[in-house]
Amino acid sequence: MAGTARTRPSGSDRALREVYDTALLDLDGVVYVAGDAVAHAVRSLEEARAAGMGLAYVTNNASRTPGAVAAHLVELGVPAEADDVITSAQAAARLIAEQLPAGARVLAVGGDGLREALREQGMSVVDSADDEPAAVVQGYGGPGMPWGRLGEAALAVGRGAAWFASNGDVTIPGDRGVVPGNGAAVEVVRLATRWMRDAPEPQIAGKPRPPMHRETILRTGARRPLVVGDRLDTDIEGAHAGGVDSMLVLTGVTDAAQLLAARPEHRPAYVAGDLRGLAQPHPEPGGDAESGFVCGGWTARAVADGLVLEGEGEVLDGLRALCGAAWTAAGDEGGCGLESGKALARLGL
Ligand SMILES: [Mg+2]
Repeated sequence: MAGTARTRPSGSDRALREVYDTALLDLDGVVYVAGDAVAHAVRSLEEARAAGMGLAYVTNNASRTPGAVAAHLVELGVPAEADDVITSAQAAARLIAEQLPAGARVLAVGGDGLREALREQGMSVVDSADDEPAAVVQGYGGPGMPWGRLGEAALAVGRGAAWFASNGDVTIPGDRGVVPGNGAAVEVVRLATRWMRDAPEPQIAGKPRPPMHRETILRTGARRPLVVGDRLDTDIEGAHAGGVDSMLVLTGVTDAAQLLAARPEHRPAYVAGDLRGLAQPHPEPGGDAESGFVCGGWTARAVADGLVLEGEGEVLDGLRALCGAAWTAAGDEGGCGLESGKALARLGL
């Protein structure tokens, strides 16, 4: 049976910033890490903009307002305005506004970004289950959010309010390690409403869900967008769900081994070390499983005891050849389980 899954990265003779009209950029792990700019990010974005590419920043983080995110970007040296930032809070607010009458009361459990997004959609923001909200929406409230806020959410859901969440990320990276994210707060409310006969299910807006992608396209007017991200299960899967191309950068949470083991919906069109990938052509690996996958001076093969890489050349070309070998070996059945450590060591990855 002919597979439909991507079995190798795409190629482009031209720089991606000339091929796509808008970059839909994830922030954490792409533009900044722990508050500081990622190497080569500021210059690459400046040059992409100068070359005529539109830049939009797309984040699952619902706690900060677009204005606050833009101010942070400007501080790092990235030119950005509030309108260039799209958050999962905005996607959630639109979802709610489409389902409830104008001015409906919504219990907001989260930060300023969530409240601002709800008001922008004409919703009436309330803080207590006793205000009889028609809906509850959970967005990341930060480490200082009182436990009692989850109690209000559980009470309102238990009384029949519609339930929404900005995003379902169970964890988020903190500067001291992994900490609970909004998805964990959603699970708390789920546990506390387990007594209900028909267990309610929240509608989730953020990446990789379609509402987030739709919000981004609506706000940017992008016609040929390129999603740029560091996470396979949010950024790349979201692009896949939206039917648009994506570029994975290796400056965030995904390493080369995870890329090789990616399931079909997690395979990006392009792979880059960092945002300089917007300015570079992307050679497509040639060859096949029989003769090996060739890119630059490298040849990659999948054999019984793992992935094998021979030759020399650019690191990224070696990785592209390995993607061809690994993704073809896995096909559309899931991720490639072959050992990749030795092959990646040849690339210093
Ligand atoms: Mg990220």
